[in-house]
Amino acid sequence: MSSVPAKASAASGPAGQLSPAGRILEVRDLSVTYEMERGAISAVDKVSLDVAPGEFVGIVGESGCGKSTLLFAIAQLLAPPAAVTGGSVAFQGTSLVGMTDAQLAAVRWKDLSVVMQSAMNALNPVKAIGAQFKDAMRAHGVRSRTEIAERSAEVLRMVGIDPAHLKSYPHQLSGGMRQRSMIAMAMLFTPELIIMDEPTSALDVVAQRSLMVQIKELQQQLGFAVVFVTHDMSLVSNFSDRLMVMYAGQVAELGVTRAVFDSPLHPYSAGLLEAFPSIRGPKVALTGIPGSPPDLSRPQEGCRFAPRCPKVMDRCRTTPPPLYQVDGTSVRCLLHEHGRFRSGSGSGPVPPTAAPGTGTPADEARSEH
Ligand code: ADP
Ligand code: MG
Repeated sequence: MSSVPAKASAASGPAGQLSPAGRILEVRDLSVTYEMERGAISAVDKVSLDVAPGEFVGIVGESGCGKSTLLFAIAQLLAPPAAVTGGSVAFQGTSLVGMTDAQLAAVRWKDLSVVMQSAMNALNPVKAIGAQFKDAMRAHGVRSRTEIAERSAEVLRMVGIDPAHLKSYPHQLSGGMRQRSMIAMAMLFTPELIIMDEPTSALDVVAQRSLMVQIKELQQQLGFAVVFVTHDMSLVSNFSDRLMVMYAGQVAELGVTRAVFDSPLHPYSAGLLEAFPSIRGPKVALTGIPGSPPDLSRPQEGCRFAPRCPKVMDRCRTTPPPLYQVDGTSVRCLLHEHGRFRSGSGSGPVPPTAAPGTGTPADEARSEH
């Protein structure tokens, strides 16, 4: 479809990292802890992620792996017992950490908006949709009734809802319509970045798909960037530019969506791919991933995925893997310590090309970090 060049388009260079100029969001080594009586839970552990203008980044992982906590930390929406214990978040070159509430309020909605996991909880149940849109616009200084009415109707139309529903209360809408209204609300000011936390998870498979298509079309039309969280990896396969797989609060794999899908490097990514049916692909038995994610309140030696990993080696149980760079993908797995073995590529292991006196390409990429 034709896209209106309202904003800069995504810097679609090769994978893992973006050029400094091509970043709208820069998350560096972000860590979040929940301080509980029984001990601290390390829910997000040194996560780094860049997002380019107009880019669509998917974040996937099982329930409890820290996806929502990460998004809340990025948007500065965490409340006790959660606290950011390290790292930085910069949006359009400005640090969000340390901003006053007033400064944050000015950024939220206008430049960066967030669509929460449950629209029923995020929408005010005793206010009509239109009144909630009006509040958001008033809070950002829009006074003209006509402007508010026109823009509210416009964004609702964009998500395929008749503007007559501005008078409806959340309970009068279906789950899908509530989610769409949340997305409409997030677009009131045409932000540069919309962060979405499982916005389709309450919907059936067909409604999920159609909402995804709609989000993608709006993104292409209006040019905003999207960070889209889901536990269903197959859902984002056709929509995201890059994919970040999270496990137990850490980045397990981060790369171009196609690469991660076609040849997942991390055994966890491979397991997630098998855990969800492809909507168009042939019906195959779902193998899933046996076991469950680790208890994050207990520090674990070695790789966090080791107890469930089908490819576990002895060393994995004692050596925590760093993120390795393999063909532009970042992967936290000792299998890739020496370079470019891509499981499932069909061509077998590619030996690292170690020139005398230099590291492997993977080493060099790593040292730039
Ligand atoms: P996801 O969105 O991937 O399902 P969350 O970010 O909600 O994961 O949770 C990550 C981990 O953080 C959970 O496994 C849990 O241990 C912890 N956690 C989340 N919310 C809370 C909370 N309100 N209080 C204490 N611990 C929490
Ligand atoms: Mg969540």
